[in-house]
Amino acid sequence: SRVLGIEGTAWAASAAVYDSDSDDVFIETDAYQPDSGGIHPREAAEHMHDAIPRVVGRALEHARKSDDGPADDPPVDAVAFSRGPGLGPCLRIVGTAARALAQTLDVPLVGVNHMVAHLEIGRHTADFDDPVCLNASGANAHLLAYRNGRYRVLGETMDTGVGNAIDKFTRHVGWSHPGGPKVEAAAEDGEYVDLPYVVKGMDFSFSGIMSAAKQAYDGGSENDVSAGPSDSPGGGVPVEDVCYSLQENVFGMLTEVSERALSLTGSDELVLGGGVGQNARLREMLAEMCDQRGAAFHAPEPRFLRDNAGMIAVLGAKMDEVGDTLALEDSRVDPNFRPDQVPVTWREPASD
Ligand code: ATP
Repeated sequence: SRVLGIEGTAWAASAAVYDSDSDDVFIETDAYQPDSGGIHPREAAEHMHDAIPRVVGRALEHARKSDDGPADDPPVDAVAFSRGPGLGPCLRIVGTAARALAQTLDVPLVGVNHMVAHLEIGRHTADFDDPVCLNASGANAHLLAYRNGRYRVLGETMDTGVGNAIDKFTRHVGWSHPGGPKVEAAAEDGEYVDLPYVVKGMDFSFSGIMSAAKQAYDGGSENDVSAGPSDSPGGGVPVEDVCYSLQENVFGMLTEVSERALSLTGSDELVLGGGVGQNARLREMLAEMCDQRGAAFHAPEPRFLRDNAGMIAVLGAKMDEVGDTLALEDSRVDPNFRPDQVPVTWREPASD
């Protein structure tokens, strides 16, 4: 079958077509780039409004080209969309587009949880049976594992998402959005300086480390205006050192909790999801930890890590196959849609 996926939870206006016969995933994405600062929800929604029809048009064109069925058949067998979590104004535009398309094409509508999609694309591309998943994305950071028909949240951030935390630091430094790749590049020339490291059981926190990083960059304590000149344009610790230390601590925290999750569940498979998963240092730490305990580690290719409609189409196809579709009147979006709210209909309950 062929499924159209539509994604638009925050910055990526994206449409994809997944062909389950060939396993081919066609993705078309139009990214929102803020002029200044971080993501403005209203501007992001305007971007969705402009770009979603365009990317959907290209995806459907691709589907029609690869369709050798009767000419009056719809080009796809279902329309899947991300229902949440994400920015409300963006989600509503995507929801409206998906409903309209499903109605026009007269095919089922599938509502996908964006965070479960981040997990499932890793399980799909690795062909793993029962992995633990570390979702390290912009607005989220958590560990998921399957138990009794749901993906349970084993541990999560107590404050901001990991990408958003990094982006807040880079905004302070004056770098443009998104900050993650810039921190990764700067960290290459850095040395370690002491920053907080906060793990509490299976949960973790980024707010303390982010304020400490800003303070280290500015020099001195918050109230100290006497900090002398230094190599840093901020007046404190060189920015390369702050970036390096930020990565070591933040990714060290995520690696520690991932290891604890593997040990707790007895799983020997770890998959990575989310845009921060594009970071080579994070991948290296996780791969090393898995290697040491004899676990398999899989990070999907970058186009499946950052927000993309490919993962929505792939999970949408699995859900459609078991009839996990939505009536139009039940298809409202949910900005706070948690992964553990989703009944996992598409998996054999083999590991219970
Ligand atoms: P969510 O999936 O939680 O809705 P999101 O919509 O913000 O998150 P993602 O595409 O998953 O989007 O992740 C974007 C984040 O990834 C941004 O915060 C960005 O700074 C970060 N990021 C991108 N590349 C890197 C990198 N190389 N290293 C670290 N962080 C990165």
